[in-house]
Amino acid sequence: MPDRLPPRVALLGFSIECNKFAPPATKAHFLARTYLEGDSIISEARSPNPTMLPETPGFVAAMDASGPWTPVGIALAMTEPNGPVEHAFFGELLDTISRRLRAALPVDGVYICSHGAGLTTEEDDPDGVLFETVRRIVGPDVPVAATLDLHANVSERMVDAIDAFIGYRTNPHLDMRERGAEAAAAIREMLAGLRPQHAFIRLPIVPPTVTMLTAAGPYAEMIDHGQRRMTPDIMNVSVMGGFAFADTAKNGLSVVVTARHDREAAERLAHEIAELGWANRARFYPQLTSLDQAVEKALAVGRDPSLPALAFADVADNPGGGGRGNTTYLLRAFHEAGVAGALLGVFYDPELGAEAHRRGVGAHFEARFNRSETTRFSEPYNAPATVVALTDGRCVGRRGIYAGLRLELGSCAALQIGGIAVVVISHRVQCADPIFFEMMGLDIGRARSVVVKSRGHFRGGFDEFFGPEQIVEVDLPGLTSPMLTRFDWKRLPRPVIPLDENVEWRPA
Ligand SMILES: [Zn+2]
Repeated sequence: MPDRLPPRVALLGFSIECNKFAPPATKAHFLARTYLEGDSIISEARSPNPTMLPETPGFVAAMDASGPWTPVGIALAMTEPNGPVEHAFFGELLDTISRRLRAALPVDGVYICSHGAGLTTEEDDPDGVLFETVRRIVGPDVPVAATLDLHANVSERMVDAIDAFIGYRTNPHLDMRERGAEAAAAIREMLAGLRPQHAFIRLPIVPPTVTMLTAAGPYAEMIDHGQRRMTPDIMNVSVMGGFAFADTAKNGLSVVVTARHDREAAERLAHEIAELGWANRARFYPQLTSLDQAVEKALAVGRDPSLPALAFADVADNPGGGGRGNTTYLLRAFHEAGVAGALLGVFYDPELGAEAHRRGVGAHFEARFNRSETTRFSEPYNAPATVVALTDGRCVGRRGIYAGLRLELGSCAALQIGGIAVVVISHRVQCADPIFFEMMGLDIGRARSVVVKSRGHFRGGFDEFFGPEQIVEVDLPGLTSPMLTRFDWKRLPRPVIPLDENVEWRPA
């Protein structure tokens, strides 16, 4: 029997979640986080502390462990959630991917790392464009597997262009590495000859982010139902909540079921899950705490050490959803009310961070937040401050979505403002990891209140300190407010829950 060459599997990706209401993302944002071409993708994926999210490292590790293969790095661009990507950069990336993939032919399989809620300044479905481009280049017979964030807005062409559609199943996203490994297993099965079948259903529900937790709630129930109903023929069940702020025609809670052989079984299960989601539609409305109530709660726990400490989530200013991480509503209200024993982070303000570094530890000065306005929500605020700590912002994530990742937050400063220690950063990132306070010498365990600029991923990092009952989601203005009625939507399919009355859906 002749020796067969190890399969050649191409790796590529485009991963960003885009908020149409936020300022555009540029090539510089990708270069500052993860932009790799060629085999540097593989070496970075195999390094102990990569900059990329863990799907690709999980894919590479599982391929390495499951037999011989020849990885072929193409190009991977990934960065923090932001506004739409400048179309010229997306075009450049697509050209690079196309050129390198053509040069790499023949390949036996392709792995795509995708978020699924990308936008460009001209295109609402760049992920679909990428998937189609890859399919066109490799032809109909080469297996293509993609991993997607569960905040993906799924288009027909995304589903049609690939063979294995694998979405995250946890929010906060703690299964990225496992989903990469699942994509590797799918590639192995398809290399052995399998051609899976899909079913895809989209509901007229655009769930506000805070209603999409996977520990409990209507979305968790859909995911759990899908997992319980797995059979040997069902290869994957992905329930994709989507990302409202992308504001596209493809928005809507989606179910993608992949069967090894039986397409009708995939259709039946997809309908079951969709019908469960539809039956629970009244639960996709956010329940938030008002700012006044939040202040009362922070004052109460500050006064009475026998009460459990609280985490206040500034869900409307979540850098993990394109927020700027610099609104001052909570800082101002807590400071003016005299809240004590509080931490607040991470506040994105490079100018203030630089000034604190110039002044040095121990300096007293008038901290001017948002001296350069970035959005209408980024109101200026001045307060007397003392510099209590400075760092260069380099760290390795400790817990949650950033665990093990190499991160650079730029010049960081801890400023004491009345009873609140504020961590200022210079590279925008969501406050999902306790390391962002700990590297400044701040003790989360001793704080009475901790304000986090994060929608939900902080839950995976701060669970050591705060159980679900200690978390307060505060209703404030911002680019990522879960109160979707406050936005001027242009492209969302209407009517849709939770924006409209009399929304109808009938299983096809
Ligand atoms: Zn996500």
